[in-house]
Amino acid sequence: MAGLARPGGLPAVRPDLSALVGYHSAQADAEVRLNTNESPLPPPTAWQEALAAAVSEVDFRRYPDRSATRLRQALADSHGVGIDHVFCANGSNEVLQCLLLAYGGPERTVALFEPTYMLHGHIARVTGTQVAAGGRRDDFALDLDEVARVVADADPVVTFLCSPNNPTGRADRLDEIATVAGLVPGLLVIDEAYGQFAPSSAFELCRADPDGTRHVVVVRTFSKTWSMAGARLGYLVADPEVVAACELVVLPYHLDAVTQLAGRLALDYVDEMDARVAAIAEERGRIAGTLAGLQVETWPSDANFLLFRPTARPAATVWSDLVSAGVLVRDCSTWPGLSGCLRVTVGLPAENDRFLAALTESLR
Ligand code: PMP
Repeated sequence: MAGLARPGGLPAVRPDLSALVGYHSAQADAEVRLNTNESPLPPPTAWQEALAAAVSEVDFRRYPDRSATRLRQALADSHGVGIDHVFCANGSNEVLQCLLLAYGGPERTVALFEPTYMLHGHIARVTGTQVAAGGRRDDFALDLDEVARVVADADPVVTFLCSPNNPTGRADRLDEIATVAGLVPGLLVIDEAYGQFAPSSAFELCRADPDGTRHVVVVRTFSKTWSMAGARLGYLVADPEVVAACELVVLPYHLDAVTQLAGRLALDYVDEMDARVAAIAEERGRIAGTLAGLQVETWPSDANFLLFRPTARPAATVWSDLVSAGVLVRDCSTWPGLSGCLRVTVGLPAENDRFLAALTESLR
């Protein structure tokens, strides 16, 4: 039978997967790594100490709390919802995967609007779900006519928005998100991985109209603003029916005891997190100011990164020049709608200086 191995041989992977290229961020040895949108700052020392103390009390013989009750309750309190509205997993990518394991699959379609976060389409395909990809306007804002056309054509079970959008940096306007919420037939999943940097959040829509937004799912992560990418923690806030669907597909005990503690204790440091967001936003402004004087096209950002397009030299050449100067940024130039574009994460002031000096030199 096709795809099955002879005794002792290896079977072929699922035929629908063989066309997929795994999602990898090109890595190169570089002293200044501004390619994956992590926080440039370590988490607060007090959090590290509190976590170390709490970890010493963990009974590692036992499986962790399967329902992550204390973590979910703390998150629920922070958003003013009940615990049954919160689902946690190993990074927001796993949250997205659970959503698509539950709602996607053969004969089902997700809609998304490019350029956007590549993992939405990738996870859809890995879960055997069809992808209907629409576009955005030239300035990367949502095109509501296009959204209406794509959802009417595809009848998606899930529509993804990413706000602020990775890699363009732009947050979608709340009134436009509300319009999309009124158009889509299934779930509207809003990936707010960079939500703390944005002027508004879909949470505001949900609070204002809980009945009209039962199908809206907001996904967040501890990887960026919380400086905790190494801990792998993300969550969604949604209708309890959506939470129950995710619990149906997720593996038992998927969220280890240390991650649960790390997330719960982090929530005691909201002020420190807010201060980091402000500091990063200020640095972002400084980088944008310098980029404005260089031969690059740039776009406004509501996140901790900036998209730019060198106009004087090819993106790939500039990327290599930066790597040679010890600075790694993300080459987005082959992504849909992003020809010639690079993305830089806001780093520490000295890292940003190094990036700006290397870019200036490359474009000279
Ligand atoms: N969503 C978006 C828009 C992202 O940029 C990222 C990280 N690159 C994620 C989700 C995944 O983050 P994590 O799995 O670390 O929570």
